[in-house]
Amino acid sequence: MDKIRIENLEIFANHGVFPEENRLGQKFLVSMELAVNTREAGLKDDLERSVDYGEVCHFASDFLKNHTYRLIEAASERLALELLLKYKPVRGVRLAVKKPWAPIGLPLEGVSVEIVRTWHKVYLALGSNMGDKKQYIARGIERLGALEKCRVLSVSDLIETKPYGVTDQDDFVNGCLEMETLYTPEELLDKLHEIENEADRKRERRWGPRTLDLDILLYDSEIIQTPELIVPHTDMANRHFVLEPLAQIAPYVVHPVFLKTARQMLLELKNRNRKEDGDEDGIV
Ligand code: ADP
Ligand code: MG
Repeated sequence: MDKIRIENLEIFANHGVFPEENRLGQKFLVSMELAVNTREAGLKDDLERSVDYGEVCHFASDFLKNHTYRLIEAASERLALELLLKYKPVRGVRLAVKKPWAPIGLPLEGVSVEIVRTWHKVYLALGSNMGDKKQYIARGIERLGALEKCRVLSVSDLIETKPYGVTDQDDFVNGCLEMETLYTPEELLDKLHEIENEADRKRERRWGPRTLDLDILLYDSEIIQTPELIVPHTDMANRHFVLEPLAQIAPYVVHPVFLKTARQMLLELKNRNRKEDGDEDGIV
């Protein structure tokens, strides 16, 4: 993506671990690389279609002057978040905060922290098979949308499905949603658990009845395998109740392990099921 680069913006502010740093202040040099699609602005020669770097500089300067952090890690993290929330065309930032006068009792040219933060595209599976199922799902979507670091972009139709795995339980309502988020996958999983718990979810047995189930299907094209989190969601290619709504909102999103689109996985699954039901040929 195109970049707007601001180099070594000088800001006098009060961040630091030592009380003298907070009291006296010192110079900081801030460099920002904003990932912005500048094509339209370039073709039309129109600032409205880009990001005003002058405004960004004033915003960053005011922000770092009006807050005091002990660590430049914290100053960078908060400023990156503010930039990503405030400027819609900014898809990501690379941010370096440098202290040329870091008081360490030795001469040095400076110390800096550099971070990269971006919006991430995520697909979630939504499910419920207890109580007012649609209401639980609607409330879950509302809670997600209310989070500062999440933007819900589209929601599929909800479908009614028979239970999968453990079958002696009530039918499910399932759906999918597309969103973008500033959370890491692990942070997002924690948030999803919080929202599930608010929906009176009890974790009694795996695949058992639940008021609300929120699973991460895809997170950009990342592949994650930790004890807590598997992305892409394990077994999604075999679940009609996942692929049907996913293919509705994102038919061409690609599974990063199988390298197949949602639509392709859905068609292949339907084909397999048809063959298992006795129609030897399936559909082509
Ligand atoms: P399931 O969704 O498999 O029916 P749970 O909702 O009870 O079961 O989740 C059990 C655990 O699965 C969660 O605590 C979480 O740590 C783990 N998990 C692994 N991968 C994912 C994922 N992609 N999305 C959500 N949870 C996941
Ligand atoms: Mg789950």
